[in-house]
Amino acid sequence: MPRTSDDKLELLCERCGYCVEGLPAGARCPECARPVADSLPHARPGSPWQIDPSAASWFATNWATLSRPAATMRTARIDSRSSRRLLIINCFAAAAPYGVLAGLFTLMGILRTEVLLWDDETHLANFALGALYVYLALFGVWAAHWIPLLVLLLLIAVALRAIGRLRGWRVTLPVAITITAHASAAAFLLPFLFVTGMTLCFLTAIVLGEVGLFLGSFVEMLGFTVVAALPTLCVLVVFFRTGLRECRYANPSRPYDSPP
Ligand SMILES: [Zn+2]
Repeated sequence: MPRTSDDKLELLCERCGYCVEGLPAGARCPECARPVADSLPHARPGSPWQIDPSAASWFATNWATLSRPAATMRTARIDSRSSRRLLIINCFAAAAPYGVLAGLFTLMGILRTEVLLWDDETHLANFALGALYVYLALFGVWAAHWIPLLVLLLLIAVALRAIGRLRGWRVTLPVAITITAHASAAAFLLPFLFVTGMTLCFLTAIVLGEVGLFLGSFVEMLGFTVVAALPTLCVLVVFFRTGLRECRYANPSRPYDSPP
C-alpha cells in the first residue's frame, strides 16, 4: 500500500513506503515484513564524510560510493548541509585534473616558443606574463569544468525529485541532494569513461569497416558523441538509480526521536 500523507518526516518503511509511524521498533512492516528498526533514522548513521568531515573521510566516502554504492546510499544520512559540501568539493576536485593539464600544456607551449626571450632584458616581464598565462589556463579551465559539472549534478537532483513525484516516492530536496552528493563520486571516473567511449567509437567504426565514419557530417558527429557518451551515461544511471532505490523512502533524522 502506498503512503497516505505527504508528511516529510513521517516514518516510512524504507523498502515499500508503508507508514510505520507509531509501531514499536521490534515490529515488522505490515506490508513487506521488513523490521521497523531497519527503517528508523538511526539505521542511517551517515557516510564517513557526514560523520566526521575531513580529507580522509572525504576519500573514504567516495571510495565507498564507487565500490559499494548500494550500501553507501543505504546508510547515508538524509542531510542537506553535509551533502551540499560534499557535492561542491567533489565537483571542485574532479575538475582539478583538467585545469592542471591545461596549465601544464600552456607552460610547455610557452617554454617551447618563448625560450629565447628569457635572455632578453625584459625577461622578468615575460616571466610574469608567462606565469599569468599558466594561471589563467589552470584556473580558467578548472572553473570551466567544475561549474558546469555542479550545474549538471544540480539539474540531476531536480530530475530525481520529478521522478520521485511521478512514482509516488518521497524524494524531498534533502533526499535528492544526499543522493546527488554521494553519486557525484562518479565524476572522478569521467576521464576514464570518456577514453572508454572514444575506444568504443573507433571499435564500432572498425567493425562497420569505416574508420572515417564518425568524422564527417553533423549526423555522423552526433553518432560519434552518442557512442562516446554511452559509458558515462550508463555509469551515471547506475549510480543515481541505486541512490533512488535506497533512498526513495528514506527517513530523515527528527529532533523528537530518541537515540538508539
Ligand atoms: Zn514495508
